[in-house]
Amino acid sequence: MSSDKLADSKKSLPVIADCNGCGVCCFHMGYPAFILPRAPMTQSQIDADAELVAKIKKDPRLNDDLLAGNPGESYWHALPDALRQQWQAYVDNYTLPKYGDDPATFDGPCIWFDMESRQCQNHEHRPRICRDFETGSAECLQWRDYYRDKISLNPPAAH
Ligand code: SF4
Ligand code: SF4
Repeated sequence: MSSDKLADSKKSLPVIADCNGCGVCCFHMGYPAFILPRAPMTQSQIDADAELVAKIKKDPRLNDDLLAGNPGESYWHALPDALRQQWQAYVDNYTLPKYGDDPATFDGPCIWFDMESRQCQNHEHRPRICRDFETGSAECLQWRDYYRDKISLNPPAAH
């Protein structure tokens, strides 16, 4: 989005005090995007994967990361078993959309998102990426601008 358009959206949308009645940044997440633990790879496994090699050319630090493995994020390790099983069942049957420019081609709402209350049903267990997404950031304002007709100005009371 151009900076002019972003400035316009800041002007014309209500001031964001919190996320009540919004939730539009969850509309295309599909499922909670945890960083999972990953077993270390060998150098020959890495070299045999053309996609990884292309990524490593852009960021050589990735090679060391793959060789060392990844412990995964703390919120994944703290996830209750029932939620972990629900997550796994969804991911096992997940099909990657054919992403285009139009958000209609993206993933649908996160499986933890309650469209009626506009809230995360497992907020205390949400992954790091959701915790890091800042209210009022440029990305937040872009989504709010795109979904300006879907943001409720009279949201249901928090539960
Ligand atoms: S788009 Fe922004 S205001 Fe809306 S729920 Fe996400 S972070 Fe909150
Ligand atoms: S885990 Fe919760 S906060 Fe994160 S995308 Fe899903 S509904 Fe939104």
